[in-house]
Amino acid sequence: MRLHTLKRNLLKGSIITLSGLLLVPAFAQEMTTEAVTDAIYVVQGNGGNVGVFVGDDGTFMIDDKFAPMSQGIITAIKSIGGEVPKYLLNTHFHGDHSGGNESFGHRGATIVAHHNVHKRLAEGSVIAAFGMETPPAPDAALPVITFDSDIAFHINGERVRAFHVSHAHTDGDAVIHFEGSNVIHAGDIFFNGFFPFIDAANGGSVQGVIDATNQILAISDANTKIIPGHGPVASKDHLIAYRDMLVTAEARLSSLKAEGKTAKQAAAETPLSDLEAQWGNGIFTSEKWIKVIYPGI
Ligand SMILES: [Zn+2]
Repeated sequence: MRLHTLKRNLLKGSIITLSGLLLVPAFAQEMTTEAVTDAIYVVQGNGGNVGVFVGDDGTFMIDDKFAPMSQGIITAIKSIGGEVPKYLLNTHFHGDHSGGNESFGHRGATIVAHHNVHKRLAEGSVIAAFGMETPPAPDAALPVITFDSDIAFHINGERVRAFHVSHAHTDGDAVIHFEGSNVIHAGDIFFNGFFPFIDAANGGSVQGVIDATNQILAISDANTKIIPGHGPVASKDHLIAYRDMLVTAEARLSSLKAEGKTAKQAAAETPLSDLEAQWGNGIFTSEKWIKVIYPGI
């Protein structure tokens, strides 16, 4: 794997941060660019994983982290022979995946997303789990092409299909399948290696994430490379382990919910303690995670 490290001092200050998720990160932006194939790359660092597909027809990009990271993303794209993206696809509306939209929109990228991404960006949103309010986005940040069930791009010699998975991480998620290259960008359906955020207040649900992972598994094989929304590039086996963890958690939490237990009461029973060692070292401990996802059970 080729690794290019870019260090940029773009933002200094002390703004709250939660493992690089959602909230604007506090300090210098460090990004790494890793080749997934000879034309598809992942740019990692604070915020969601950015997918970049370069070729003769132009650069196709998936997600764009936080607003202050746009210049760093462009530097990363240029280092792999790409240009300012012609197309920018948002996997969902969260600010750690769409924060650069205004900047890339002004630079000429055509932004594409599910209908509900447009709606939430245009209307503004509240992420109840983090008490985070985002005002309506400026026009340049809004998708100009939106879709319902799916859309395909015929670019750089390949068919790239984006399809909607309903009521999963949010109500506007898209999964992107590079059909010729056998690469999938799963967006925040997949947090590789740790308990995921699921945004119940914006239409997400645990069962929806399970269903979405099954849809991704159905189009994967032993050679598929899966770019998660957060965490390292994964194989099908990693996604199977993650799906199994979610199925276990969902079953235990729904029976506690059926008994009438509140989120606090459910968490107090530590029903996921056996999952803690493997999955609880990312954004959430199991106790915090139960409280966050319980409304989406
Ligand atoms: Zn998200």
